[in-house]
Amino acid sequence: MEFIREYADWFYLIGAVLFILTLRGLSGPKTAIQGNRYGMIAMGIAVLTTFFVADNPVVWMILGAMVLGAIVGIARARTVPMTQMPETVALMHSLVGLAAVLIAIAAIIHNNKLIELGPDLLAVNGVDFHQMSRVHLFELFIGCFVGAITFTASVFAYGKLAAKKWAKTISGTWVKPVQAIIFIAMLAAGIHFFLTGNMTSFWAMTGLALVLGWVWIAPVGGGDMPVVVSLLNSFSGWAAAGIGFTLENNMLIVAGSLVGSSGAILSYIMCKAMNRSIINVLFGGAMGGTAAVANTGDKVQRNHRSGSADDAGFLMSNADSVVIVPGYGMAQGRAQNAVKELANILKEQGVTVRFAIHPVAGRMPGHMNVLLAEADVAYEDILEMDEINSDFPATDVVLVIGANDVVNPAAKDDPTSPIYGMPILEAHKARTIMVIKRSMATGYAGLDNDLFYNDKTMMIFGDAKKVVEDMTKAINGSGH
Ligand code: NDP
Repeated sequence: MEFIREYADWFYLIGAVLFILTLRGLSGPKTAIQGNRYGMIAMGIAVLTTFFVADNPVVWMILGAMVLGAIVGIARARTVPMTQMPETVALMHSLVGLAAVLIAIAAIIHNNKLIELGPDLLAVNGVDFHQMSRVHLFELFIGCFVGAITFTASVFAYGKLAAKKWAKTISGTWVKPVQAIIFIAMLAAGIHFFLTGNMTSFWAMTGLALVLGWVWIAPVGGGDMPVVVSLLNSFSGWAAAGIGFTLENNMLIVAGSLVGSSGAILSYIMCKAMNRSIINVLFGGAMGGTAAVANTGDKVQRNHRSGSADDAGFLMSNADSVVIVPGYGMAQGRAQNAVKELANILKEQGVTVRFAIHPVAGRMPGHMNVLLAEADVAYEDILEMDEINSDFPATDVVLVIGANDVVNPAAKDDPTSPIYGMPILEAHKARTIMVIKRSMATGYAGLDNDLFYNDKTMMIFGDAKKVVEDMTKAINGSGH
């Protein structure tokens, strides 16, 4: 154990390098599994080293917490269905935020205890605990408010992604002024705490930050949610880095900064993909949300054409090119393996089959890529929006599987639409469009979709997996 204490910085350095390799691995589907392995080893090194370098640790408490955490983590990892991954990720971000707040509180209580113990202890340690250093107060100020905002915002994001009733989108002219007042009051309390170390200001700042997290995210509509989710990912990293400063743990500072900066880069990429500015997302309020829902209030009866899986299978097997557009419904219906099988059968018939991925399809960044990788779809068949959009006019059949917002032409054509300006997969330009979904219901942004009423569109109603399996059977049975 002495060995670990003596070489702790080296162990942390190895851990940090492994974390960097983790991120590198996770940046591509082929290397993601290896990336995960690096991450597990790095985390193991970080936890063990920290355990052995701690001064006078309360061993039973640390081990108890680790065992309890491991039991909950393993149980959750084993049971969580892939469909609930987005909300699980949001929940994990909330825990990092909560940890930052609790550690800030613990650090302050600990310091106050030392002050109470008085001069004897000061004599022993030779440190003036009466006055925390400015740097320390600043770390606590930043770490605590970022953590508190991350906590409540992530809990709300969890509720929204899991479609919980309590996670209601709020709207109205009062929202922005209220957000601004809470933000300014929180900042004032935080600065007062930083300047004076006053505890009342600390509690006020923490409470206001908790409320701010909620009222900041509650008005965010469908269109902005993906950016917010990746921003929360980034915040959770910065909160962890803040804890690292408070605990004077270099490993946590490095790991937190890596998560924080990679999350920030992801947010930037998502913003570009959504054609939004980060300032707009942070301070712009609802882009979709209630405004979008209100638009669907006075529904006009419109006609759409529907067909069967057999018809669709026949049409596809006679096509030269098919582009599959997967969306949240493919994840929800766990249809990825059936989709892969359909693609294989079509390829065997000589049809060119490719997959088109929108950056915000599904409910978390990279959602569709993960599912298609799980089903072993060849990476070269998977194309990003920019790569495939120009090919749609020359495509015989577009098969939209449980996607809605990401193919909604209103984003291009209707300046009054809440998602106007968001780039979409231009499925409407294909020669024939087939859409698999269970009903005419709206997607996440709550908007009606003109694509479904297009003359070239055939709706095939049913659960994604069942319909795709029926299509495969139809193609197999037709003996093409
Ligand atoms: P949408 O949410 O727009 O649409 C999904 C469609 O799938 C629904 O209209 C639904 O219709 C259908 N569906 C659901 N379950 C099934 C099933 N079992 N079988 C067949 N169809 C099904 O999804 P998109 O992927 O098009 O767009 C993603 C949306 O989520 C965007 O608005 C995005 O902003 C938002 N978002 C994305 C995040 C991300 O990081 N990717 C994070 C948070 C939000 P029906 O009920 O009729 O079947």
